[in-house]
Amino acid sequence: MQSKLVTINAPSGAGKTSITHYLLEKVPPLTFSVSAATRKARSGEVNGRDYYFMSVDEFRKKIQNNEFLEWEMVYESKYYGTLRSEIERLWSDDKIPLLDIDVKGAIHVQQQYPDNSLSIFIEPPSIKELHKRLLSRGTETEESLQTRINKAEYELSFMHHFDKVIVNDDLQEACDEAEKMVMKFLGVK
Ligand code: 5GP
Repeated sequence: MQSKLVTINAPSGAGKTSITHYLLEKVPPLTFSVSAATRKARSGEVNGRDYYFMSVDEFRKKIQNNEFLEWEMVYESKYYGTLRSEIERLWSDDKIPLLDIDVKGAIHVQQQYPDNSLSIFIEPPSIKELHKRLLSRGTETEESLQTRINKAEYELSFMHHFDKVIVNDDLQEACDEAEKMVMKFLGVK
């Protein structure tokens, strides 16, 4: 049987982190695929658990060595990418990688694994609501908030590429819906 993987995508602030945590708890053997990133760790983030934090030089070296399944410059001069070694590690451990990556990354992965991937897009109820959620998170400056809103509008335009779309109006309902989708994809009753 071909190994499977799941990608989950959403504009930042659309509830992706909560839904991801819910899925990881409810659906073993789903396991978070740790991405590489060149941004600074936020408070509470742990290297190797949230991201493999690395320098731009290190990241570029890995691009040259073809070590990424996909990578993107998600924000200006900030690289993010999925290491092939991470996916192989999880598969060799009989896990199903859950990739929390940006739209283009998810589309690249889908193209590489058309028959054994499930791509889920979480849609926020509105841009206004997204703005409110990002503000309440308290981690953004005025400038980074606007960057994320612009990015969200851009990402929403790719929604139709995804296998499944969930509107996150109500977090618990969105979580339940995501769980059912993944269980079905994995063939678990
Ligand atoms: P944050 O800086 O908020 O952790 O993440 C910013 C964005 O980078 C999010 O949209 C997230 O999905 C995306 N991202 C995280 N890891 C990867 C990755 O490995 N590849 C790609 N293409 N995007 C990623």
